[in-house]
Amino acid sequence: MQFHEFGFRLALQDAINALGYKEPTPIQAQAIPLLLEGKDVIGSAQTGTGKTAAFALPILHQLGVHARDPRCLILEPTRELAVQTEENFRKFSRFTDLRSVVIYGGVGYEQQRAAMKAGVDVIVATPGRLLDLVQDRTVSLAQAKHLVLDEADRMLDMGFLPDVKRILERCPKERQTALFSATIPPAIATLVKWAMKDPVRVAVDIERSAASTVKHVMYPVAERQKNDLLLALLEHAHWESVIIFCRTKRGADDVFATLKRANHKATVIHSDRTQGQRQQALDGFKKARYEVLVATDIAARGLDIADVTHVINYDVPEHPEDYVHRIGRTGRAMTTGDAMTIMTASDAQLVAAIERFIGQKVPREKLENFTYQYTAIFDEARLGPLSERRVRGVKLSGGGYSIGGGRRRR
Ligand code: AMP
Repeated sequence: MQFHEFGFRLALQDAINALGYKEPTPIQAQAIPLLLEGKDVIGSAQTGTGKTAAFALPILHQLGVHARDPRCLILEPTRELAVQTEENFRKFSRFTDLRSVVIYGGVGYEQQRAAMKAGVDVIVATPGRLLDLVQDRTVSLAQAKHLVLDEADRMLDMGFLPDVKRILERCPKERQTALFSATIPPAIATLVKWAMKDPVRVAVDIERSAASTVKHVMYPVAERQKNDLLLALLEHAHWESVIIFCRTKRGADDVFATLKRANHKATVIHSDRTQGQRQQALDGFKKARYEVLVATDIAARGLDIADVTHVINYDVPEHPEDYVHRIGRTGRAMTTGDAMTIMTASDAQLVAAIERFIGQKVPREKLENFTYQYTAIFDEARLGPLSERRVRGVKLSGGGYSIGGGRRRR
């Protein structure tokens, strides 16, 4: 299938050509015709599957030409995602006179107020700040007839659902609503019932979007050796750019400090850093000023960073879908990437949940020339039955780890 078969307006088709998109991705092929027909759509697709274009293009097509009041609202859980999505809208609408604006908290109000005054067609926003601007009447949602709730499960995790509901109450009843979410927990199902009309579900297979081009490996190690193993992995792998994921902000800061001490060109993003610091870190990483980006899940969710050769999970993620999101940073656009996860004895259950979620067993490896200290995770007597009970048959044969060398990309 080709993009021109959707029959987009010429200005949009020109932008698609300029971006070099040839064929629609699976989520685009499924969602675009439905959204063009005006249907409500629930999409299960990870970031990296092209889901932004899947909703942005049909909405821009329906908007047509510029009008004063905002007619499209996209809600995102984080500022970074909001910025990135709005950048995409700009790229797609560059040959039209449609205008978009991004609205998020943690920065001054003036610029966002001025943009609203000038008149916009598309608002991409995080819920909190948008609600402020709706309440002080800077923003009217009375004409917002296209609504997208992106990463809805993450908005739920972050406690945004009450704000989202209040925002929805300000939108017209006659509207088109699209919702994207990796999972549909009960609270999202309730929201769907309340906010959507006969939605059609489209899904992209999670296993495939967990990146068939990525090689996954677990590195079991004693808790006290995590930092040493991390530095050894960085030394060992032929990486060009790497993102290291940590579970907590504090943990991310500690890892960042460890890397700085070891003279790595590193930077860090998490939600306690200012918007300016986060943007500076991301820009620096994209422009290769930094080779290593340390991040928490929330800060890194969905970021479109091309050409990351490796992802290292310093901590095993608590939610299996975060594993898929993290790994989605590498192996994009069919380049191969490596995903390495450092696991300790206490992570066995989390790892089992991940393996169930991705429907794949992740091999355990030992790093060559690294002096391992004893940990219960190497104890075959424990691992045997434990692995059968919890890891569904992934057996770690004691001492039988394959060696991690010779498989890296140059
Ligand atoms: P997303 O999942 O929306 O974050 O998109 C991930 C990346 O894929 C972005 O860099 C997009 O520009 C790119 N992309 C989206 N759709 C296509 C397509 N049909 N062909 C090639 N690249 C695409």
